[in-house]
Amino acid sequence: HAKAAGRNQSCFFNNEMTRELVRRKEIEAELRAAIQRDELSIYFQPLHDLETGRIRSFEALVRWFHPVKGELPPDEFIPVAEETGVIITLGNWITAQAARVCAQWPDDITVAVNLSPVQLRAPGAELGIINALKEANLDPRRLELEVTESLFIEHDENSARFIRALTEAGCTFTLDDFGTGYSSLGYINKFPFRKIKIDRSFVSGPDVGRKSNAIIRAVAEMGAALDMDIVAEGLETIEQIEKVRAAGCTLGQGYHYSRPVPEHKATELLVRDQGEHPLARKAG
Ligand code: C2E
Ligand code: MG
Ligand code: MG
Ligand code: MG
Repeated sequence: HAKAAGRNQSCFFNNEMTRELVRRKEIEAELRAAIQRDELSIYFQPLHDLETGRIRSFEALVRWFHPVKGELPPDEFIPVAEETGVIITLGNWITAQAARVCAQWPDDITVAVNLSPVQLRAPGAELGIINALKEANLDPRRLELEVTESLFIEHDENSARFIRALTEAGCTFTLDDFGTGYSSLGYINKFPFRKIKIDRSFVSGPDVGRKSNAIIRAVAEMGAALDMDIVAEGLETIEQIEKVRAAGCTLGQGYHYSRPVPEHKATELLVRDQGEHPLARKAG
């Protein structure tokens, strides 16, 4: 009896494991095919200068329009892509697309791409990014690479080489989601970040108050001293924009300005932005 139960149990676990493996394999295969089938696209969300209000850059955010499951958020498939290694191909594709679009915009507009820790750790992954830039014919100085601070917990030689190679090529690095992980000043001291993005949990939500505002001010002051841009994420209201501007943040991003939008809408945003300042910049 006990033996039978044990057998059933191990059977159950085996089935569960098999099912999970099959599910991953499916998503992995679907993801690889998704690129070919044109199911993936890149959306762009503007970053605005908090002093002038004008667009300075766009963050590229991947979207998957699955024929059956509908729109899948990146939080659902990026982890699978990371576990299966598909993220390398996917990440290079995303970078090439984002770079291609940015190359059509005015020279002073940059584009930011999110990098997975897996991409930084993979030996030789910097070549994939450099090739993507060449393919798109984009000046490397117009590509920003966003890495989340949690990445650096397991900092290794490959990641260091990746950052060195791409910095030498002219790309810049941004520390994303600052305040959600270890927020180590050691990372900021050691790596050549040009920007820090303060996580949106400091701007809105249950943890916002006197303390979070003081932290934003302190980070902004550090940014000014280090000649870095400090970006406030998740700006949904004018009050929040006013608050982070007063606290010393230099750039802002959020639904108040614009949600992430497809390429043609992003270009429209730029045209409109330039139209309001006709003398300030050449036409796109
Ligand atoms: P992230 O890099 O911190 O990107 C910002 C996320 O905040 C985006 O979600 C964006 O749509 C959302 N957001 C922007 N403004 C607001 C706002 O005002 N309010 C609120 N509530 N949310 C706002 P999204 O596009 O779902 O991306 C989620 C995360 O997935 C990203 O966080 C990033 O870590 C990852 N991700 C997205 N695209 C890529 C990619 O191409 N490659 C990699 N490796 N990761 C990506
Ligand atoms: Mg980001
Ligand atoms: Mg972020
Ligand atoms: Mg975030």
